[in-house]
Amino acid sequence: MAFPVRVESPGVRYSPEYLEADYTYTNTAVRRDAKGAYIATPVNTKYTFRTQRKVPKLGVMLVGLGGNNGSTVTAAILANKHRLSWHTKEGLQHANYLGSITQASTVCLGTGPEGEVYVPLKSMLPMVDPDDIIIDGWDISSLNLADAMERAQVIDYNLQVQLRPYLEGIKPRPSVYFPDFIAANQADRADNVLKGTKQELLTAIRRDIRDFKDKSGVDKVILLWTANTERFSDVIFEVNGTAENLLNSIKNNESEVSPSTLFAVASILEGITYINGSPQNTFVPGVIDLAQKRKVFIAGDDFKSGQTKLKSVLVDFLVSAGIKPVSIVSYNHLGNNDGKNLSAPQTFRSKEISKSNVVDDMVDSNSILYPDGRRPDHCVVIKYVPYVGDSKRAMDEYTSEIMMGGTNTLVIHNTCEDSLLASPLILDLVILAELFERVQYKTDADDEFRNFNVVMSILNYLCKAPLVPKGTPVVNSLFRQRSCIENVLRACVGLAPINHMLLEYKHA
Ligand code: NAD
Repeated sequence: MAFPVRVESPGVRYSPEYLEADYTYTNTAVRRDAKGAYIATPVNTKYTFRTQRKVPKLGVMLVGLGGNNGSTVTAAILANKHRLSWHTKEGLQHANYLGSITQASTVCLGTGPEGEVYVPLKSMLPMVDPDDIIIDGWDISSLNLADAMERAQVIDYNLQVQLRPYLEGIKPRPSVYFPDFIAANQADRADNVLKGTKQELLTAIRRDIRDFKDKSGVDKVILLWTANTERFSDVIFEVNGTAENLLNSIKNNESEVSPSTLFAVASILEGITYINGSPQNTFVPGVIDLAQKRKVFIAGDDFKSGQTKLKSVLVDFLVSAGIKPVSIVSYNHLGNNDGKNLSAPQTFRSKEISKSNVVDDMVDSNSILYPDGRRPDHCVVIKYVPYVGDSKRAMDEYTSEIMMGGTNTLVIHNTCEDSLLASPLILDLVILAELFERVQYKTDADDEFRNFNVVMSILNYLCKAPLVPKGTPVVNSLFRQRSCIENVLRACVGLAPINHMLLEYKHA
C-alpha cells in the first residue's frame, strides 16, 4: 500500500481543497565579462505552488484504440483492476504496472533514523489510480478490443481468455482516415471510417468527446494519439501557420490538414489536453497557437520507450564522463503493424527525424569534446520483419574516442515486446498530465495563480522528440528529465530538490 506523503513545515498549508506550498527556486544567472570570464550569480525566486487535492474520475480517449498499444494498455488496466492472475510456462503471473514511473518507481523523500527513505513516486501528490481510468477511443479498424488484443499477439493466451468478456463490448468509434498520411499497406484494415468534409469530421470528433463524457460520467477527459505514425505535414503559413489559418483550412477542406491535427484541434476546442505518442508534426504552428489561445495543454512527441530511452542514458553517461561518442548506429526490426506502417518511406522519415535529435543537447553541452560543433555520425534503420511480431529487436553500436587515440565500442542488443514498454508510458503520460492540470503557481511578481505553459514540457521524460515552449532548452537526457519530474513534485509540496550531496553523512 502507498501511504501518502504529508509535509510538516510552516510554508506548507493543507485545506480540504488545496495543498499550498511556499518554495524558493534557486538558479544561477551567467554572463561573460569584457575579458570573456564567466560571471555566475545566484538567483532566488519565491514561488507558491497550489495543487487541487481532489482526484477526478479520469476518462482517456485513445486514437488508435484497436492497435497494439491501445489494446494492450486497455487489457493491462482491466487485468490490474480485476486483480487477474494467469499461468505461463514459468508459473503464476499477476497483473502489474512495471515500467510506469508513477506506479512502479520510487523517489528518495529524505533521510530517517535508518537512512534514506524511499516512497512510491505516486505518493508525493494525489494522482489518478490507473485501475480507475475509463478508456474509450477511435480506430479505423472495427475490431472489438478482445479481437484487437488477439490480433496484437502481446498478451499471454491464458490472460486473453480471462479478459475477453471485459473487452468484447468495447468497440472503437469510427475514425478519420486520409490514406495519404499513412502507409498504403494500412488500407485493408480501414473498415471503420468517418465520411465527410474536414469541418464535418471535426464536428464528429467533438461530438464523440462530449458523448463519452456524458455517458461515462467521468469528470475529466484526456486525448492521446497512439494511432499509426503519419507522414509529416507541410508547414505552410497560409494553411497551418496560425490558429485562424488552420481553422480556415479545415473549413476549406485543405488537403494538408492531417487526421492527427484534426484530433488535436477537436481536443483543444473541447478544452481537453492532447498528447501525441507518435513522431509526426501534429503540432503545426497553428495547433500550438490555438492551444495557447484556448489555454489547453498539449504534450509530445513520440513515446520514448526503448532504444531512444537507452540512448538518452548512454550518450549522457559517455559525454558526461568525458568520453567522445563519434558514431551511433541503430538498427531496429519489428513485425507488428507499427513496423508494417513504418516500411513506407514517408512514415519512416517521421520516425527517423524523431529518433535523430536525441543526442543533440548532450553533445552541445560539452565544447571540450565537440569544439567545432560537429556532431557524431548518427544513423537509424528500421526494417519490417513480420515473424518477430511485437517483439522488437533493437541493435545499437556506439563508437567513442577515449584517451590517447583509443577507441571504445559498445554494442547493445535489446529484445522486448514494444507495446509492453509503451503501455506504461501511456499511463504515466495521462496520469502526470492530469496532475499537472491541477497544479498552479505564482511568483512574487504575479497577482494571481497561473497554470504551467500549455506546452507541457514536464512530460518530456516520456517523449522521444520533446516538444517545448518556444525559446526553451530541449532536454533529452533521461536523468535530467526524471529529476525534473521528481523535483517539481517536491516543489509542489514545499520540499527542496534532491541534490544527491548527502552532506549529513560526510561529516568528519
Ligand atoms: P498499431 O499499428 O498496432 O496501432 C495503431 C492503430 O491506429 C491501428 O489499430 C490502426 O488501425 C489505427 N489507426 C491508424 N490511423 C488511424 C486514425 N486516423 N484514427 C484512428 N485510428 C487509426 O501501432 P502501435 O504499435 O500500437 O503503435 C502506435 C503508435 O505509437 C505508432 O505511431 C508508433 O510509432 C508509436 N510508438 C510506439 C512505441 C512502442 O514502443 N510501442 C514507441 C514509440 C512510438
